[in-house]
Amino acid sequence: MKRSFSQRVKLDLCNITIKNNCCRRSFLYGYMFASRVFSREAIEMRADSPDTNRCLRALMDDVFGIVCEDGPKLTVKIPSELDRIFGELGENAHNTLNKDAFGCELCRQVFLRGAFVECGTVNAPGRSYHLEFIAPSDGRAEQIAELIAEFGMTPGIVDRPASNSTGVYFKGSEAVEDVLQIIGAQKAAFELMNAKILRELRGNANRCANCDAANISKTVDAAQSQIEAIGRMLASGAEDVPAELLETAKVRIENPNATLAELAALHDPPLTKSGVKHRLDRILKYAN
Ligand SMILES: [Zn+2]
Repeated sequence: MKRSFSQRVKLDLCNITIKNNCCRRSFLYGYMFASRVFSREAIEMRADSPDTNRCLRALMDDVFGIVCEDGPKLTVKIPSELDRIFGELGENAHNTLNKDAFGCELCRQVFLRGAFVECGTVNAPGRSYHLEFIAPSDGRAEQIAELIAEFGMTPGIVDRPASNSTGVYFKGSEAVEDVLQIIGAQKAAFELMNAKILRELRGNANRCANCDAANISKTVDAAQSQIEAIGRMLASGAEDVPAELLETAKVRIENPNATLAELAALHDPPLTKSGVKHRLDRILKYAN
């Protein structure tokens, strides 16, 4: 079975090892919050793939000590089990997103990751940039939107009457990439950037067929090999790549035509030219 881009992103997100217990609970909370049946009477978590199913079962057992019956969805109906869950998340956690249930500064992001795995969708590279959380109600959509706004994002809200849901959506390459990074989908974010950059490089090459071709093709060649190296580096597992290399990778991909001096200035705080060169060399080494 061929997976869609959304499905691949969700699979990657499920496979991230969550270190803190508070964050594991936040993942489940996000997933429940995006589920249609999440009330004091019952909780139902649909799992649209065996991987998600397995991941949810393991977390439910680990976090709440609840072993759900086998099947395509996880159901909690026993009052004592519901008491345990709402005892930890807050008695009104299904109506109002309870930030007191968050235990560390990563929890908000992992909550959004859980919500995305339940109800999210993102277009594949090459199509228009669109990422959406398809929430089960207006109220939940607004609260998901508010939480993600805390990261400096400005989502749109749209009614989806056909599916009786409300969408929290992002358009444009930067917004979509940023949301993917917030929820931990680094590889997908870079895949989108890579696709964009290769399009731009091809466009430049075509436009410059008749101008100073030698010089431009030299810059383009260098950028292209760096970008390919970045792709290989990320394919080997973005979680293990040092943060400063990811930063430089991102700046390079977003600015394919920039010179070393320009790249240096684009870092925050700015680097020296040789500092950038050193990091790009490390990326090449990493990739090989
Ligand atoms: Zn946490």
